[in-house]
Amino acid sequence: MEKDTLHRFLIENTQVRGEWIHLDKSWQEILNCSDYPAPLRQVLGEAAAAVCLMSATIKFEGSLILQISGSGPVSRLVMQATSEGEIRGLAQWDGELSTTNLQELFGDGQIVISILTDRESDRYQGIVSLEGQTLSDCLQTYFEQSEQLNTRIHLTADHESAAGLLIQSLPDQEYDKTDVVDDDSWDRAVILTDTLKDEELLTLDANALLYRLFNEDDLRLFDPKNICYQCSCSQKKIEDMIHSLGKAEASEIILDQTLIEINCDFCNTKYSLDAIDVERVFDSQISDGNSSLH
Ligand SMILES: [Zn+2]
Repeated sequence: MEKDTLHRFLIENTQVRGEWIHLDKSWQEILNCSDYPAPLRQVLGEAAAAVCLMSATIKFEGSLILQISGSGPVSRLVMQATSEGEIRGLAQWDGELSTTNLQELFGDGQIVISILTDRESDRYQGIVSLEGQTLSDCLQTYFEQSEQLNTRIHLTADHESAAGLLIQSLPDQEYDKTDVVDDDSWDRAVILTDTLKDEELLTLDANALLYRLFNEDDLRLFDPKNICYQCSCSQKKIEDMIHSLGKAEASEIILDQTLIEINCDFCNTKYSLDAIDVERVFDSQISDGNSSLH
């Protein structure tokens, strides 16, 4: 089994395209950051697979972020995938969790899908209501309502792997209708993928799984894209953040607490700055010419 890879595929002479994802090491590294209860682990893994699948459906440079927030026992879940295939994510919860039902876990809430890029014109934010028991249900509705794309998403996760399969019907303008010889292709692909079992998603590699589903079709499987775990926090970003607090406030915290300590929620890295570090932050920013004194 190829580890931590995403494969795009299409069925020749149809408007059906798709993606297969399997996360192993990257998923383990997300799990290592916190002791998640099993039901939340399941949803977090599904979100990890989902952001990879969703980011591969669009051409962009930057990151795609899926955030679920609500009033229930799980207050927040954030999962991020960059166009380079780097993922990170976390969830915050309170108390015992006994269900994987999204509405029961998050209560009254919503899913926000954002695309962050350097080019402001390419930025995007979409809101998905938490109507549906699973993340797949919610995301399918999102694709159908916001993107007007027929979509089927299967997501699953356990303590070892997170996996998913997405199929979409290409929008009219993106395929040459003369090439489409099979009008039933979408309906058939839906019926076939609906037979998929979680265990197959978790244990079969891309070739075996797609053969199992589409062995009567002419399937084209593209080269895999590697996915890895990578947190984007850094000493520099923390120092920039402290700089934006202003020297007076930063000095006050140092006087009060001796150290400024910041913990990255995504990867649990602890950053700590003492009085000398703080002096340096403000000095170096001035000498870099980046400082705004007002
Ligand atoms: Zn981090």
